[in-house]
Amino acid sequence: MTDEIKKLIKDLSEIYDSDSEDTFISLYANKNTYKKFIDHRIKACRYILKGDILKNFDKTIEEIENKIRNISSGSIVIFASHKYDFIRYISLSMKLQNLLTVDSSPYIRPLARIQDEWESFTLLLISSNFAKIFSVSTGKVEDIKKLSTDIINKHKKGGWSQARFNRLRRGAIKAFLSEVAEALQKLSDDSIIVAGPGTIKNQFLDILSKKIRDKIVDVIDISIEDEQKLLKESFKLIAEKEKIESNKAVQLLKQEILKDGLATYGIVETLQAVKNGQVDLLIIEKDYKIRGWICESCQMVEQGVKKSCPYCNNKTSEVDIIEEIIEFAERTNANIEFTEGDEIANLGHVGAILRFK
Ligand SMILES: [Zn+2]
Repeated sequence: MTDEIKKLIKDLSEIYDSDSEDTFISLYANKNTYKKFIDHRIKACRYILKGDILKNFDKTIEEIENKIRNISSGSIVIFASHKYDFIRYISLSMKLQNLLTVDSSPYIRPLARIQDEWESFTLLLISSNFAKIFSVSTGKVEDIKKLSTDIINKHKKGGWSQARFNRLRRGAIKAFLSEVAEALQKLSDDSIIVAGPGTIKNQFLDILSKKIRDKIVDVIDISIEDEQKLLKESFKLIAEKEKIESNKAVQLLKQEILKDGLATYGIVETLQAVKNGQVDLLIIEKDYKIRGWICESCQMVEQGVKKSCPYCNNKTSEVDIIEEIIEFAERTNANIEFTEGDEIANLGHVGAILRFK
């Protein structure tokens, strides 16, 4: 699912109306609550749009509503333009803020933030004879793999010495743990949380390769019946990890700026760097927006308001500069970290670790 989002964002970042016309609708909606919201937004947009743009808007909305009808529950994110015969969507499980924009390009900022904040992870629940591997993506359990084995039970089998019994039992447990380790190895590169009762967890951790152990973000001691509680706890852990990562990114940015290294900050400087393909890691203040304009004809973006492009005289569109920075970043395969707090605000709300200078 995360790969699907990643690919969608990248594809969308390349798309725009070269005449700077408001032909793309982006909709982020909760299936259960969107109807009232969307009707209200449609009304508002229809007051403003005229002529062919309005016709395109009506047709695009019709196509979007047809698509939504087929989504059973949860949330949906759709990008569509009748003019370009374009529609892409993804259904998600987390609650979204309802949003409908009409613009010269798809509005990808909220989706990029979802990608940053809802990291995929693997949760392993393990005991001596039973394991469950949950693959969690964008707030939802996507897949559960179950493994179990018949470990000789605690009752002594006829005629065996206690020592022989213990040896066989230990061997069977070890074989089972290896089987689980192998299953874990085959999964993706996500973070791993290991949970389970007693000391079996530790035995399991001991047999893991370094590569897998490095992916483990936490080990939880919990009774095996408590799956819901465990999943909840896991989401919390992953969210904390994400916070630590975004904080690290800001610290790295500060260090690089101090030693005049591979970094830049501020709207104008970061925009320039990202257009040049210099940005490796883009760091953005979560809710900050800044008004600007884009000329889709020559891809010039600047702060402020301009009706026509001073470089090529074509019509411009009003934009959030941060959204444009994100689009350039996606086109050039930069990573994006959303963060909040005074540190990034004081650095001009946006900054970047650069690939070259
Ligand atoms: Zn221009």
